[in-house]
Amino acid sequence: MLCRSNDELELLISQARAFAGQGEVAQYIPALAVAHKHELSVALYYPDGKGFMAGDTEENFTLQSISKVLSLALALIDQGEECVFTRVGKEPTGDPFNSIAKLETNKPSKPLNPMINAGALAVTHMIKGNTAGERFERLLDFIRCLTGNETITYNKEIAKSEFETAHLNRALVYFMKEHGVIDEDVEELMDLYTKQCAIEMNCIDLARVGCVLAMDGCDPDTGKQLLPIDVARICKTFMVTCGMYNASGEFAINVGIPAKSGVSGGIMGAVPKKCGIGICGPSLDEKGNSIAGIKLLEMMAKRYSLSMF
Ligand code: GLU
Repeated sequence: MLCRSNDELELLISQARAFAGQGEVAQYIPALAVAHKHELSVALYYPDGKGFMAGDTEENFTLQSISKVLSLALALIDQGEECVFTRVGKEPTGDPFNSIAKLETNKPSKPLNPMINAGALAVTHMIKGNTAGERFERLLDFIRCLTGNETITYNKEIAKSEFETAHLNRALVYFMKEHGVIDEDVEELMDLYTKQCAIEMNCIDLARVGCVLAMDGCDPDTGKQLLPIDVARICKTFMVTCGMYNASGEFAINVGIPAKSGVSGGIMGAVPKKCGIGICGPSLDEKGNSIAGIKLLEMMAKRYSLSMF
C-alpha cells in the first residue's frame, strides 16, 4: 500500500527531522549557506494526478544537481542518444560530484557520466538554441511543462553567487574545451549552467516531475507524452547508477528507487509506475546528500515497499 495521507507523511517527517542536526548545509556556494538546517518537506505525486505532502512545503529550493537529469532529457531530445554519448559517458565514477581526476585519465577524454559536474556541463553545452539566453529559456519552458507550473523561474541571487565562485567548474570546462568536448565560450556556458542549477521549485513541483519520469514520460494530469519513453528510461537509469553521488550503491540497497539529489538538499525520486517523490532538507551528509531526506526515503521504502529490486 502506498501512502495517501498528509498526516502519515507528517509523522514520518517528524521522525526524520531529528537527523538533520548531524549534517551541515552546503557552504561552497555562499547563497546556499544561509539555508535552515532543520527544514524538511516531502511530497508524493501519483499517476492519477493526486498529491500528498507534509513539512515545510511552502519553501522553494533550487534544483542544483537535480537539474542535471532535466538538462540531460532536453539534450537527448535535441541531439539524440548517439550524439549525446559521443561527448559524455555512461559509467558511475565513485568520485565526488565535482572531481576533475577522471577527466584526465579516462580515454577518450570525456566525462564519465552526465550526473557529475563535468558531464552535466558537457550536456548543458548540447542544449539547442541560437544564444545562451535562448537555450536557458528552452530549458525553463521544458521544466515548466514537466511541473505543469508556468511560474517556475530561477533564483537570481543564488545563480550570481555560484557564478562568482564556480572556479572548479570553470576549470572543468577549460579542461574539456582543451580536449574538444566543449567548443563554446566558457563564461557563456557557466552563465547558463549556474542559472540552470538555480531553477527553483517546491517539493510538490518536484514530485510531479518525478511522476512524469516514473510514468515513462507521461503527464499524470493530462496523459500527454511529455518525454519519449527512451529518454525517461535513460534518465531513470542514470538516477539509479549515479543519482546520489558516490553513495548511489548504498542508496540502491537501502532505498532502491531512481533518485537524484542536489546540494540544496533536494531529492527527486521516480518510483517506476507508482509515484514521484519530491523532498527538500538542506542539511547534508559528507557526500552531499540530504541527511534527513535519505532517512525519510529509507523509512518510506520499508513502509511502502518502494524498492524496485
Ligand atoms: N551547482 C552545483 C555545482 O555545480 C550543483 C552541485 C550539486 O548539486 O551537486 O557545484
